Amino acid sequence: MKTIEDLDVAGKRVFVRADLNVPLSDGRITDDGRIRAVAPTIAKLLERGARVIVASHLGRPKGEPDPQFSLAPVAVRLGEVLGKSVSFATDTVGESAKATVAALADGEVTLLENLRFNAGETSKDDAERGAFADQLATLADLYVGDGFGAVHRKHASVYDLPARLPHAVGDLIETEVGVLKRLTEDVARPYVVVLGGAKVSDKVGVIDNLLGKADRIVIGGGMAYTFLAAKGYEVGISLLQKDQIPTVLEYLDRAEKNGVEFVLPVDICVSANFPDTKTHAPVEDFEIVDADKIPATKEGLDIGPKSRELFASKIADAATVFWNGPVGVFEHPTFANGTKAVAQALIDSDAFTVVGGGDSAAAVRILGFDETEFGHISTGGGASLEYLEGKKLPGLTALEG
Ligand code: ADP
Ligand code: MG
Repeated sequence: MKTIEDLDVAGKRVFVRADLNVPLSDGRITDDGRIRAVAPTIAKLLERGARVIVASHLGRPKGEPDPQFSLAPVAVRLGEVLGKSVSFATDTVGESAKATVAALADGEVTLLENLRFNAGETSKDDAERGAFADQLATLADLYVGDGFGAVHRKHASVYDLPARLPHAVGDLIETEVGVLKRLTEDVARPYVVVLGGAKVSDKVGVIDNLLGKADRIVIGGGMAYTFLAAKGYEVGISLLQKDQIPTVLEYLDRAEKNGVEFVLPVDICVSANFPDTKTHAPVEDFEIVDADKIPATKEGLDIGPKSRELFASKIADAATVFWNGPVGVFEHPTFANGTKAVAQALIDSDAFTVVGGGDSAAAVRILGFDETEFGHISTGGGASLEYLEGKKLPGLTALEG
C-alpha cells in the first residue's frame, strides 16, 4: 500500500475519506475523538500544499438530505482542531461542493456534507455506487483512505472511489491496522478479550473467531443476558436474543473443548425501567441481585460489584487485552460502574490494551479516563471486529495496489 508520503500532493486536490461519524446530542458533539484522530493526516497534507477535500458519513440518513445528520457542526470542530478555517459544502457532488472545491487555494481545506445524503453511497447496486463515485472523482486528483471506522463497508467513497484515482492509505488507518496485526499475529499471552455492548448478534462472528485465539473471553453488557439465559437463568426483561441461544451454547461448549475460559457476570444491577440517558434523572429502584436471581419484572443494566472484582481479576494478569462494548448502560451514572471498573482494570494491568468500538471509545473519555493510559483507542468498532473475524475489508482491499 502507498502511504501519503508516496504521493506528490502540492497544488493537488486530495480527497480524504475520513470517519467523522461522531456522537451528537441536540446538534452538539459529545465526543470528538474521531475528529482528532484524523486531523494529523489532514494537517500533514495541508502543510505540503494540498487542497484537501474531506468527506465522511454521519449516522444513518436514508439516502437523502436530513438536517439532523448534517456534518455542519463537525466542520466547525474540525476547524478548531486544525486551527484553520474549514469551508463547508452543503452538498456532496452538487453546486455547493463544486464551488467550495474550486475556491480552495493550496493549503486550504473543505468538508463536504454527509456522503449518505446521496443514495449512491451505500447502494448495493454496483452501477449506482459507481455512478456516485464517478461524480466524486471529478472533484479530486488524488484519494487518501483514512476513514478506518468505515473500511468494512463496500460504499462508493470507501470502495469504488479509490479505484478511480491514484490513492494512498492515511496515517490513521496505518496505525489502526498495525494494532490489529498485534492482536492477530504472535499475540502476547495471556490474551483476554472483554466484550459488551447491546446485542450479541453484532459480536457472534468475532466470538467464533476468538475461540481459537483468545485465552479468556469476558462477557458483560446487554449481550451477557443471552449467555445467562442459555445457562437456564431467568433474565427478566433484560436484553435477550432468544434466537442466538443455540449459537451461544455451542460457543460455551467449544470454549470448554479449546481450553478458553468464558467469564460471565455473577451479579447484576437491575431496575424496572430503562434509565433516562439524556436527563440522567435519578433511578430510585435499582438493586443488586445474583446473576441467577434476576426478578422477572426487572432489567439488567450493569454488572454488579462482585462481577466488577471478578472481571478486574481476569484482566489483571493479561499481556494483551482487547475490549469492545460497554458492560452496562454507562450513559446513565447509576449504571456506569461496571464500565468504569473495566476501564480501570485495563489501565492497572501491564498489558497492551486496545479499546475498540465507537461507544466504548466514547465511554472511556466521557467517564473521565486519560486516553494516553490505554495502548490504543480504536476509532472503529465494526471495522475492528470484522478484521478480528478474519474478514477481508473492502476499504483496505481498495487501497492495495
Ligand atoms: P461499541 O460501539 O463500543 O461497539 P455497542 O454499540 O455494541 O458498543 O454497544 C453500546 C451500547 O450498549 C451502549 O449504548 C450501552 O448503553 C449498551 N448497553 C450496555 N449494557 C447494556 C445493558 N445491560 N442493557 C442494554 N444496553 C446495554
Ligand atoms: Mg456502538
